[in-house]
Amino acid sequence: MIAFQYARANDVADAVRQVSAEPTAKFIAGGTNLIDLMKEDVERPSRLIDISQLPLKIVEETAGGGLRIGALVPNSDLAYHPLVAQRYPILASAILAGASAQLRNMASTGGNLLQRTRCYYFYDIATPCNKRTPGSGCSAIAGLNRMHAILGTSEACIAVHPSDMCVALAALDATVHVAGPAGARAIAFADFHRLPEKTPERDTNLQPNEIVTAVELPAQGFAANYTYLKIRDRLSYAFALVSVAAALELEGDTIKQARLALGGVAHKPWRDPSAEAALRGQTADRSAFNRAADVLLRDAKGFEHNAFKIDLARRAIVRALLQAAAGTPQVQSNKKIA
Ligand SMILES: Cc1cc2nc3c(=O)[nH]c(=O)nc-3n(C[C@H](O)[C@H](O)[C@H](O)COP(=O)(O)OP(=O)(O)OC[C@H]3O[C@@H](n4cnc5c(N)ncnc54)[C@H](O)[C@@H]3O)c2cc1C
Ligand code: SF4
Repeated sequence: MIAFQYARANDVADAVRQVSAEPTAKFIAGGTNLIDLMKEDVERPSRLIDISQLPLKIVEETAGGGLRIGALVPNSDLAYHPLVAQRYPILASAILAGASAQLRNMASTGGNLLQRTRCYYFYDIATPCNKRTPGSGCSAIAGLNRMHAILGTSEACIAVHPSDMCVALAALDATVHVAGPAGARAIAFADFHRLPEKTPERDTNLQPNEIVTAVELPAQGFAANYTYLKIRDRLSYAFALVSVAAALELEGDTIKQARLALGGVAHKPWRDPSAEAALRGQTADRSAFNRAADVLLRDAKGFEHNAFKIDLARRAIVRALLQAAAGTPQVQSNKKIA
């Protein structure tokens, strides 16, 4: 049993003050990831700063026609929020593809962004892991790596980010709002999570003394032509082997704009503007989707047990785009796509 202090934050400024005063302290929101990590002795915060009572549970429309989601909005509330269901169904689908109903009731928006990898070695303190103990080595590279990354890996770490919600947020071009001792700042979603490079212990560009206060969605929600496709070992309660958030804006059969993000394949939600550019102006058909998949996966590299993910991702991308183009996420459509 490791002793730790517990304190409740009164407001955002108080939360920032408390975490700045004690660098080994951690925020706790829903606790669905942090408590597990503490039980496994992976995380050892000296103090838990409970932010769950802060007034960050509101979903509100922005002046620009988008949506601002408070960092403490539970995943369930967000998925079933009428504005999300109507205008950002790709986000609702991604959230509902994750975890279980009970977990989604507890899990917060901010906590989902900051959940840690599910690499088995990260959880097993008897094994080397650069993410848990920098400089100790990576057990997964020559070990069991079926669930690991195929894109953006480094010699230090090949872990994947486990979130479903974040894949949709990447595709939607969200912005993360944070507050710290120097005030508030906004981080583009693409810059929020990091690739492992030589510092896999850092998952994100959030500073240790900053708190996530909200996530903002731009006006465009791609509600007509989208899909979130999650491929996993079980149909529920399992993390993605590969997931695809695909969103299209169509003019007739021509693609005016495309968004494509992958989960389960990299240390961050994987998005590549050149794959989206390859779709722009093209007819929405299988050959265009195949070409986009080739671009997105051109640098993919498998390890001993996960090379199958490259082909799986290619098929999932094409299938997700076909579903998005047909306007019928994950069901067969009468609309014919060549
Ligand atoms: C069995 C199981 C299955 C799961 N399956 C899936 C799945 O399929 N897909 C999926 O996407 N997720 C899945 N999850 C993960 C779940 O979604 C996350 O655990 C949850 O979103 C974390 O939110 P939380 O509020 O409970 O975070 P906490 O556990 O409270 O915190 C997690 C981390 O975030 C930090 N943090 C929390 N809020 C803030 C904030 N506002 N600002 C700064 N730091 C903050 C904490 O300090 C901590 O480091 C699963 C979890 C479990 C236990
Ligand atoms: S892949 Fe990353 S998290 Fe997993 S053992 Fe290697 S360093 Fe640790």
